[in-house]
Amino acid sequence: THTAAAFTTWDRSSPCFVLDNVLRVPCSFVTHLGDAIDDKTPLLRSNDAVNKEGLRLLKAINIATDAKCINSFLGWEQEFFVIKAEHYNARPDLVNTGRTLFGALPTRNQQGDLNYFAPVPGSVKELLFNIQTIMLKLGVPMAVLHNEVAPAQHEMSPIYCQATFSCDNNVIFMEVANAEAAKLGLAVLFHEKPFQGINGSGKHNNWSVGTDTGLNMFYPGKTDETRILYSTAIACLSFGLKQYNEMVRSSVAGAGNDFRLGAQEAPPAIISLYPGTGFEKHVDAIIAGGELNYKVEKSTANPGANAAMAAPCGVEDRNRTAPFPHCGNRFEFRAVGSSQNCMFPITVCNTIMAAGMSELSAKIEGGMSHRDAVAALYKDNRSVIFTGNGYSAEWPIEAKKRGLPNLNTTPLAVGQFATPKNKKLFAEMGIFSEQECEARQNVMFENYNTTVKTEAETLVQMIETGIIPACATDHKKFAENEKLKDYMGERAATYKGVKTETDKLKVMISKIPHGNLAKEADYFCNTVKPQMVVIRNLADKAEGLMEKGLYPYPTYEQMLYDHHS
Ligand code: ADP
Ligand code: MG
Repeated sequence: THTAAAFTTWDRSSPCFVLDNVLRVPCSFVTHLGDAIDDKTPLLRSNDAVNKEGLRLLKAINIATDAKCINSFLGWEQEFFVIKAEHYNARPDLVNTGRTLFGALPTRNQQGDLNYFAPVPGSVKELLFNIQTIMLKLGVPMAVLHNEVAPAQHEMSPIYCQATFSCDNNVIFMEVANAEAAKLGLAVLFHEKPFQGINGSGKHNNWSVGTDTGLNMFYPGKTDETRILYSTAIACLSFGLKQYNEMVRSSVAGAGNDFRLGAQEAPPAIISLYPGTGFEKHVDAIIAGGELNYKVEKSTANPGANAAMAAPCGVEDRNRTAPFPHCGNRFEFRAVGSSQNCMFPITVCNTIMAAGMSELSAKIEGGMSHRDAVAALYKDNRSVIFTGNGYSAEWPIEAKKRGLPNLNTTPLAVGQFATPKNKKLFAEMGIFSEQECEARQNVMFENYNTTVKTEAETLVQMIETGIIPACATDHKKFAENEKLKDYMGERAATYKGVKTETDKLKVMISKIPHGNLAKEADYFCNTVKPQMVVIRNLADKAEGLMEKGLYPYPTYEQMLYDHHS
């Protein structure tokens, strides 16, 4: 760093605003040489790529040629947990790592699936309304606020807008949520998996691409032209998702998200496209020589009672087991983690979409008919379209047959980021130079390694200074009194196990390999993390054995419910 200069420069696509008497100016952040060292600059570049390739495509297919500009749009759904600040502060794992490293579930957790439908607890309602008020003053209408599946879990979402502005809004939302929670003696947890055994949190990125004239490429609309454009746009997206599958996967990779993806509460780590079963048939018809025009069928859901009106709906349900389902007028990238900045995943969505649009334009410019070019794209990338159950045990097997990668850990996903194929596309689309791409991969590895190392060290510290002394106190009572020996049960073995296994983890930490970030990540993933699980299981068992009052940290029951009264 003997020559390290960097510069902020105003992002003119996102409005500045005043918060707590401070003017905030959304910026791009680059090195002396103009290299991107932030998440904003690549996003802005990807908007330019979508704009360029989108206008080129519209010209090639002779639709909406009056458009002067193409934008990407985003509406994020932010999930999070709310707990008491005093509990947060009493758990070094939450303070240091954002998640609990051990803790047993209360007997009632989310088995009844009722939390989603229950009223928002009073203290949280006050918080959500306070956040909503401040966000509105900043020009961000938070239209959605409600409970989520797990106890103490909630969601807030804004009305969507242009992606760069929307990404900025999410960052400021997280800051405002933390600040407002502190004022009420609460804490907001944005980690993807703060509590084991109940649902984790995501940040679904509802994303679309459209013109300055109001045309949305992912909305079938009511005219032949818009429906043809719709079939065309989804062909481009299929190309992008199939050809750059690993790139999309690595855009949501991170230590926290590893607990979520593929865990039956979030999409699998396999990236596929769900355009709807009706549209899937339409794709096959196009491949077989059919027309592009696609008419969306509407239906009504009828409660069958005089007092309740029939609700208008699509003919088919939404598939919430897919990482990329269509939602009427947008695609919902469901794999994004709750703590992530939306900018990187949206950069990648824009990049692969631009790649698909470029591929299609090139075919048409080369003399192919519009229909045949779309059919060719669908034919080549048909395997990425999947409308079945993404949580089923058969899907990974089927996905493998289709040649779709299943990169189910961060080290595997990040390892596939800076490949020659990805570097080439990033360079062609003007998103990352080779060097920027490699730098980003290094940063992703480093983030992962630092995170898991901090977790392992925090675990050791908490076990040694909190759990083991509590185990010893509990053990002593039974060991020193002959009359109580019959009640010892599994205490001695369990407590001893906590100590022995923690000692093993300490040895592992002392042997972390250095010098190669990928090797280090692999060691954390496959050596350190499994040992942390062994210790956790023993610590949770110990929690269930020791006398009430000895456990040195707030319990899951306290954290999930104390603020609900
Ligand atoms: P869900 O039913 O998945 O919970 P929500 O209503 O919570 O959906 O969130 C949907 C999000 O998608 C909102 O932020 C909404 O404004 C946004 N959205 C709607 N239409 C579009 C669009 N065309 N492009 C991008 N985002 C959109
Ligand atoms: Mg929602």
